[in-house]
Amino acid sequence: MTEEDDPPQDPITLSAYITAQAVSEHFSSPNDRKISIRRLKDIGITKAYVEFYRGGLALPHGILSETRDSLEGEGITAAGGIATTYGEGFTAQSTGGSHWVCFSSEVTRSNLADAMRTGARAFDTIIIDDFMCTDCECDLCIEGKGDRDWSEFRRDLLVRFASECLIGPAKDENPKVQLIIKYPQWYDRFHVYGYDVKRESEIFDLVWVGTEIRDPRVDYVHQYQAFSNYAYISSLAGQKVAGAWFDHLWCYPDIYLEQAYQSVLAGAPELVLFSYSPAKYDSLNPNTSALIEQKDRLDHLRSAIAGTKHMGIEAYKPANSDPGRETYLFDYLGMLGLPVLVTASRPRTSSIILSEHSLADADIESYALNPPAGTCIMATPGFLDGVAPEVLECFGLSDEPVGRKSFFTYRFDVRGRTELAEENVIFNSFLRPESAEVAAKALSDRSYPILTLNRHDDSKYIATSLQTFGHEPYHGSPSVTTAEPVSLVHLPEAFVNAMRAEIMAPLGITLKAPAKIGLYLYSFPGSDKPCAAVVENFNDQDASIMLETGLPLQPELKGSRSLRNGRKLEIELPGRELELLSVYEIP
Ligand SMILES: [Zn+2]
Repeated sequence: MTEEDDPPQDPITLSAYITAQAVSEHFSSPNDRKISIRRLKDIGITKAYVEFYRGGLALPHGILSETRDSLEGEGITAAGGIATTYGEGFTAQSTGGSHWVCFSSEVTRSNLADAMRTGARAFDTIIIDDFMCTDCECDLCIEGKGDRDWSEFRRDLLVRFASECLIGPAKDENPKVQLIIKYPQWYDRFHVYGYDVKRESEIFDLVWVGTEIRDPRVDYVHQYQAFSNYAYISSLAGQKVAGAWFDHLWCYPDIYLEQAYQSVLAGAPELVLFSYSPAKYDSLNPNTSALIEQKDRLDHLRSAIAGTKHMGIEAYKPANSDPGRETYLFDYLGMLGLPVLVTASRPRTSSIILSEHSLADADIESYALNPPAGTCIMATPGFLDGVAPEVLECFGLSDEPVGRKSFFTYRFDVRGRTELAEENVIFNSFLRPESAEVAAKALSDRSYPILTLNRHDDSKYIATSLQTFGHEPYHGSPSVTTAEPVSLVHLPEAFVNAMRAEIMAPLGITLKAPAKIGLYLYSFPGSDKPCAAVVENFNDQDASIMLETGLPLQPELKGSRSLRNGRKLEIELPGRELELLSVYEIP
């Protein structure tokens, strides 16, 4: 990328989110406001969302307008915010308990509509925090549901609630008001609890993406999920997506910063930092200080990818599709160094991933039988179990393509060589090839094929037995994030190199690196060659990385030790670090 190609780019906006409770506690008196606003300015905040309702606390117009005016007087853009949560006497609690509410309840509907009118009187922009979802099964909801399944009923209910109780009242009060829907990060569970990204994004003015990944050892959510979620929501909401949102929950500095990096790599121009407290918004807070220290780097990254588009392997998740036993699989494939782009549209890239999600597309079989010439399709057990024998023939698999068996192992056979993983990897299935070549096997009580290859007409068909887990729809764990630890990130380097080599071949890109390396590719519109790449090491240890794109690359951020520049770039990347690799012109 040359300098004249680099359009000037506004720096990333850092925004505060101030909950209603924090507004009440820290912004009520002129003196408290002055201290709090100085705190915001000290860490580089230039925009603040002032919440007017959460958990039963509805703030009156006075405190909202005074806070707004004080913020704007100090050069901070002020906007409003609401969390449609349970508050005694204000909203009816969902039968599932905790913060979620029943949106069939007339009490919920009318009080939240009133709160929106109050908010819209004070602000021209309002963001809706991610509590617009429910697990309520009260009598009213059962009656309202009728013949629909819970997913369909809740999605219909929430779209109607948003339109009648949020958007309508706010726009009646203030026709200029811009309303933002903020989605959570748990994209594979949205449909279960009433989020409908397609329809909701159509009725809201702007869209925000939750990129809260937190500590993978606590919530089992891995870093790539933030990027997956941003890509998926962008594929449905397009240009309306205007920012990301993450928090301090279960965070230490590396992971807090990784939330910011994933957001910016995905394209976010604004980062909302949930949520204001004097302790969190302080340069002595380890998470906040890590973010401030890296702000120039984040701006540099943003500027380097300005005007480009993402490049990679499209993974197909039709709108509202269920993942079956492959919940959040795309995140783990991303953690293995595949440049996965989750999309709700039929994939158009030369390499694609078809998982159980894609079975929601009624014509997926004819697509898999006749992909554009040269396409490489990688399929998962959930997909293979759901398609007709003609499709399985393309993969060179038997009519019963997937054997269901739970086993774990650290021993693998990759192209005839024994390779060891550092920890056990759990499998729930294996492949049954007929004519396919077996590229890798897991070695347990016997050897189980886990990666097979087949050519059919002009296309390459890869099958893999990599899977995650399923939530029992509606009756199992109510967890919205990850149900259990996923061990795929422990796959040995030889296996992930072999898998990448096969599926990335049509992209003309080779990555040799261990697991838990993220690869992000950018190209100029109209080009199928990358103009920039980012590699991120999610391991705590250093990693040796080789990246070959056919174009000369050089590291830009000085985050790595360069061993060899050029068409075959080699770097040593420290643990929890990332590097921007730019294409340079050969003189
Ligand atoms: Zn209900």
